[in-house]
Amino acid sequence: MSDKLIVIEKRVYIKTFGCQMNEHDSEWMLALLEECGYQETKRWEEADVILVNTCTVREKPEQKAYSIVGRFQQLKENNHDAIIGIAGCVAQQRGEGLLARMPTLDFVLGPGKIHKLPEILRDVKSGERGVCAVGFENGCPTNLPIPRTRQLRSYVTIMQGCDNFCSYCIVPAVRGRECSRPSDEVLAEIDALVQRGTKEVILLGQNVNSYAKNNPGELTFPRLLAKIDEIPGLERIRFTTSHPKDLTEELIEAFGTLEHLCEHFHLPFQAGSNAVLERMHRGHTREEYLAKIRALRKAAPQISITADVMVGFPGEDDDDFTQTLELVQAVEFDGFFSFKYSPRQGTRSAQWQDDVPPELKQWRLATLQELQREITLKKNKKLEGTVKEVLVEGRSRNSPHTMMGRTGCNRIVNFPGESGLVGELVLVKINEGLQNSLRGELSR
Ligand code: SF4
Repeated sequence: MSDKLIVIEKRVYIKTFGCQMNEHDSEWMLALLEECGYQETKRWEEADVILVNTCTVREKPEQKAYSIVGRFQQLKENNHDAIIGIAGCVAQQRGEGLLARMPTLDFVLGPGKIHKLPEILRDVKSGERGVCAVGFENGCPTNLPIPRTRQLRSYVTIMQGCDNFCSYCIVPAVRGRECSRPSDEVLAEIDALVQRGTKEVILLGQNVNSYAKNNPGELTFPRLLAKIDEIPGLERIRFTTSHPKDLTEELIEAFGTLEHLCEHFHLPFQAGSNAVLERMHRGHTREEYLAKIRALRKAAPQISITADVMVGFPGEDDDDFTQTLELVQAVEFDGFFSFKYSPRQGTRSAQWQDDVPPELKQWRLATLQELQREITLKKNKKLEGTVKEVLVEGRSRNSPHTMMGRTGCNRIVNFPGESGLVGELVLVKINEGLQNSLRGELSR
């Protein structure tokens, strides 16, 4: 007997915090619920099921998730049948503790148990209160439905979890140890997505370049990319996130050889000082990082490089911070995500004194961001007069007569055009480089 719920005209509202992995998990949860007869609503007030998919990598999104769940609890007062669940990394980390803290919560669902969602809803509907499904099973979940929420650009998870145990990072605790999906399953999913209109795939994983390292006989990540590159109809391949220590020569070479691999590499460096990197347990030095960037630029001179960087890690002194600024200056990133360190319970660094004062963290963050703003603007201005291939994604948010798309290097380009261009690869002459985007016109 099928254990799928048969429900007609039920509505689910999903609020997602955090990274692309979480966004994709939400897409998976929605796809599972759609198979059970649910429809997505963007209005939480009319939902029968509310899911808050949480992130615990930093403190801010975690606190936001708590406050939003508190707001949704009002719904319970008007609609006693509404079901409220917390999913994601906070669910995995806090588990039963969330049920104690929020008595109106119906269930808690960790990222390793997403496939159990229909079953959990069935249990809650039949009267079970406070269901807690956390932990991990052996290997990545298989046979999850293919989300249909995205068309042109689709996420495809190729691996989950992380074995690196950086001292500040909660991921290995909340996402489990590394596991990779079989390549034939990944390829079949991408094939199916292309049949539905996908032109660009973004391969996801905490550390994609160690794909299949625990699966003897499986394709390596560069070989998987080569197979994906052969899928007819697929125009672009991107991936995120990578770890510098696992960036191999074979992967670097792929940028020079694979036709559809976008010239963009997101390579977190986190800090510019070897002393800080060592305390972070990153497994690479500043010199090794810079050597990998040089090799990437040799293989693909136009490649855009983005990163993640943190300020205010325990023990970071002025000299360490200066080294981070120098590294940013030396690499001239195309952009980065930057954060202030905050201790996450359950990590090694949380046991150390958080000794950089908040005002100093804030100053360092602002200084770093200002430097990067100058670099980004300079690089965008340099593109004026060039012609770029752009995948048109839709109308610009700011003007109905302007279309928006992305270059292979992941820069946003706005240009006058018609909506019939959506999904097309067009050539755009860049007329103006701005801080966060480029402006241009169709090149004839
Ligand atoms: S590589 Fe480090 S920072 Fe990245 S997910 Fe793994 S443990 Fe966290």
